[in-house]
Amino acid sequence: MTTPSTVRTLKQTIVRLRDEKATKCQIIHALTDGILVLKPNLTIKSINDQAKNLLIHSAEPNLKQHSLSLFKNKKGTVSFKLLPWLERVKQQAHKDDEHAEHQVLVWRIHPKTLETAPLLLKATALLSKNGQVKNLLLLIYDRTLHVQIDEQKRLMQVAFNSLNGQCITNEKGFITHPNPSFVQMSGLSTQTLIRMTFTQWFEQYVHFKSVSTVTSVLATLLKNKTWSGEVEINAQTTRFDALISLSMLVDDEYNVEHYMVSIQNITDIKAAQLQIQHMAFYDELTELPNRRFTTEHLQLALNRHQTQSTYGALLHINLERFKTINDAFGRKTGDLFLSQTALALQSTLGSNHTLTRVGGDEFAIICSLHSTTLAKAHSQAIQLSHTICDALNQPIEIAGLTLHSSARIGVACFPENATDSAENLLINADLAATKAKQLKNSYKIYAYDPTLSIEVKKHRILEDALNQALAQEQFELFYQAQMGAQDALHGVETLVRWNHPILGTVPPNTFIPIAEENREIIKIGLWILTKAFHQAWLWNKTHPNLNMSINISPIQFHEADFVKHLIDLLKMTHANPQNLTLELTEGVLISDTETALSKLEALSQLGFKISIDDFGTGYSSLSYLQKLPLHELKIDKSFIARIPESADDIAIVESIISLARHKKLTLVAEGVETQAQVNFLRQQPVDIIIQGYFFSQPCSASTFAAQFLTQLSPLDAPK
Ligand code: C2E
Ligand code: MG
Ligand code: MG
Repeated sequence: MTTPSTVRTLKQTIVRLRDEKATKCQIIHALTDGILVLKPNLTIKSINDQAKNLLIHSAEPNLKQHSLSLFKNKKGTVSFKLLPWLERVKQQAHKDDEHAEHQVLVWRIHPKTLETAPLLLKATALLSKNGQVKNLLLLIYDRTLHVQIDEQKRLMQVAFNSLNGQCITNEKGFITHPNPSFVQMSGLSTQTLIRMTFTQWFEQYVHFKSVSTVTSVLATLLKNKTWSGEVEINAQTTRFDALISLSMLVDDEYNVEHYMVSIQNITDIKAAQLQIQHMAFYDELTELPNRRFTTEHLQLALNRHQTQSTYGALLHINLERFKTINDAFGRKTGDLFLSQTALALQSTLGSNHTLTRVGGDEFAIICSLHSTTLAKAHSQAIQLSHTICDALNQPIEIAGLTLHSSARIGVACFPENATDSAENLLINADLAATKAKQLKNSYKIYAYDPTLSIEVKKHRILEDALNQALAQEQFELFYQAQMGAQDALHGVETLVRWNHPILGTVPPNTFIPIAEENREIIKIGLWILTKAFHQAWLWNKTHPNLNMSINISPIQFHEADFVKHLIDLLKMTHANPQNLTLELTEGVLISDTETALSKLEALSQLGFKISIDDFGTGYSSLSYLQKLPLHELKIDKSFIARIPESADDIAIVESIISLARHKKLTLVAEGVETQAQVNFLRQQPVDIIIQGYFFSQPCSASTFAAQFLTQLSPLDAPK
């Protein structure tokens, strides 16, 4: 029977139960983790807001209807099926202990934002007293933070175990965690390290390069929370260059929590840097400083002398005949020759002079003379130049060869005025060395003076004028007679003349090198050949045996089309190649011998004769004489000039004569000016063709014809 008190008690119980249920509901919804209670058929009995957010993204939850976007992996390629998993939990409930938990980490990919989040799912089957599954409880934990922390830990571990030495200290600076690389680099044991502060370690084992003290490092660290710089670490057994990075970890109130020290061994980097620097400033072959180094150091020397009011000098050394050695014996020998020359030069110098290599066969010496006057610097530099010339005049032995060279030296003293610069000094010394080439003395040493710069300007003017000369018809061919036996006319050499309206007659020795430098000689040479072939054809009409010799520039000869041009010209002018001699110099024949040989053979086949001009002045490698199809040697006029006074020159001429006899070559002596020279040549056992002022000056075609071609000599009777 229901009494009022029973009703009241019941009502109170109902109210209490409702309150409790409401409180539980509130608690469940307030939880940051997701909670789902499922019925045995796996439909949702209750779910809190967090579970909706984490799992379902929907206000009307239904595990069956929603695609849950759950995956077994972070990449989202292997999907996770929640219901079958819960089904298995349910199935296993009887086998499990009471409240046994099943858990799995899955990845949820948000269907709209595609953000991934790791979720830990924990499922528990709730059983009734008779062992039936009453409900399934599914807890969902957001593991984003845990995963992030794990990732960071792994990252820290990898970083900490890197090849760089790293150590962490406590707030007092005591080393607490040295990584294996730090232990190894410090050369100390972990036990020793953890008994010291990092500053103690610095003081004992680290030498700071850019700053002087540990205190100043700490001051920067306190201010910026980081410091890094180059140091030298004196470990127990080794010393090495390192980069140290320091950082200070502080909390929000700027209390130090840790210091971190990181060391990177930069020995390799330093070595590579040095290597690069060496390559940029040093010459590989001779190991001497290069041109760049020269310019920089010269500028420093110049500044120093300017402030100290003292004087120094720059010597520019050019090797004579290096190109010939290179051409004749090959690059390898040339390289060895240069290295040996560098050594020979170095041995003549004291420590206050710097030897450098500024070009192929060009060296420079920056002399710190500390002279108090320019005149003293000048005389000291000239004296040093003499010593150098003496040293370089000595023959150098390389692989059984005895190679001779010599030096010409340009001297530029400094400072001369406030506007001096390293570049200008190098140019001036180079100019002086070029000028030294023209000296006839045994010491080819020339000191720069400002007139040289004027010469350079003149060179430029000539260069410009030369480019117009062909078009303006300023060239003319002159002819010089060559007399055979009984002083009968044998032939004629063509010699080009340049008549400039303002500059006057410019000699070929002046303009041909310029035309060769800018390759204008190719066009000029073709003009000369055309003119000479035509003249030869004209004169051969009345003097069919008259020979014409034509000078060929090496640049012209080395042109790929040279032979073809000659064939075309023969067709055009109808000249007879049997009456044409091509004069080449020794240098042409010994450089690129194979090509030269095939060209000469082709020319010989066509009927041309080949002569070596200025014979005896090139490199006396006579081996090429064996190989090449030659017809004539022209004894250089410098040997003829000192005959009959010079016994040496007589000996040279006699040996050329015997060589020509042996090889059955025609001999021409050029530069013959005196009766005594003619007598000497005529006494020789072979007929020598004589060319020189003694018989004729080079002259125009009409003068030559009037002088030599009016009467037919017996040799010239028409065939
Ligand atoms: P080279 O071919 O050895 O010519 C001989 C030089 O000696 C000529 O000088 C000539 O005038 C000069 N000479 C002739 N007889 C005497 C003498 O008795 N005593 C002295 N001291 N000299 C004498 P040139 O005409 O000034 O030519 C100089 C050089 O210029 C030539 O030397 C040759 O290498 C070059 N050259 C001249 N004409 C041409 C040319 O048409 N083409 C090329 N590529 N070079 C040329
Ligand atoms: Mg000649
Ligand atoms: Mg000559």
